[in-house]
Amino acid sequence: MKTYRGYLLDLDGTIYRGKEVIPEAVAFIRELRKANIPFLYVTNNSTTTPELVAQRLSDMGIETAADEVYTSSMGAAAYLQERYPAGTDVYTIGEAGLHAALAEIGCKQVAEGAKVVIAGMDRAFTYEKLAAAATAIRHGAQFIATNRDPALPTERGLMPGSGSLIAAIATASGVEPVVIGKPERILVDYALERLGTSREETLIVGDNLLTDIGAGTNSGIDSLLVLTGYSRQEDLETSNWQPTHLAKDLMEWWQKCQA
Ligand SMILES: [Mg+2]
Repeated sequence: MKTYRGYLLDLDGTIYRGKEVIPEAVAFIRELRKANIPFLYVTNNSTTTPELVAQRLSDMGIETAADEVYTSSMGAAAYLQERYPAGTDVYTIGEAGLHAALAEIGCKQVAEGAKVVIAGMDRAFTYEKLAAAATAIRHGAQFIATNRDPALPTERGLMPGSGSLIAAIATASGVEPVVIGKPERILVDYALERLGTSREETLIVGDNLLTDIGAGTNSGIDSLLVLTGYSRQEDLETSNWQPTHLAKDLMEWWQKCQA
């Protein structure tokens, strides 16, 4: 078995399911810390800040610092910062996580005349916001999306995700966005840079073939599918994305590594 020196870990379905932590994940994180193996939580969730994610994990019994979390909103802000001067006019559709990430890099949020439209999950999405975003893009603003997850698992069942809103903006403007989140490689590249391990020695872990395992393939890094969340073993038969490794849960994986 190849030894991995760094881990990029998905959250929902991998570390917890909704409000419940996955016990094998708690034990696995403990082992990683004991072995001094660096890791970073990488999430497509654009709505929340790394501080709140860290707090949530700590409340679940996994002591976490904010700098151990990397969100698609942070990736979107990093992408913007690389290409545009500080103080660039941006029209934003999103929640607290995206607003905080953009504030951190000094973006100026405007209602009209934006150079960039940046969109993620927004549970207060309206026709007016759609119209403003589409108009800005039609006038030449670049269109950036945090992620394209079509649906969100909630207590009410599957609810429209960021991808549903992005599809509306793409249809209304006639322009497809640059997408930051998994399965695109942009988020993984930034996360790798932050983690500091090389592509060859890093493993990306997740419960979703379409996003996590797709991201591994698109980024050229090995992947592990855990069967604690979204994807089922039988989904492998029809999936375009195939993980490098498969495990029932994170402790089964850890034991395989020790064998
Ligand atoms: Mg997941």
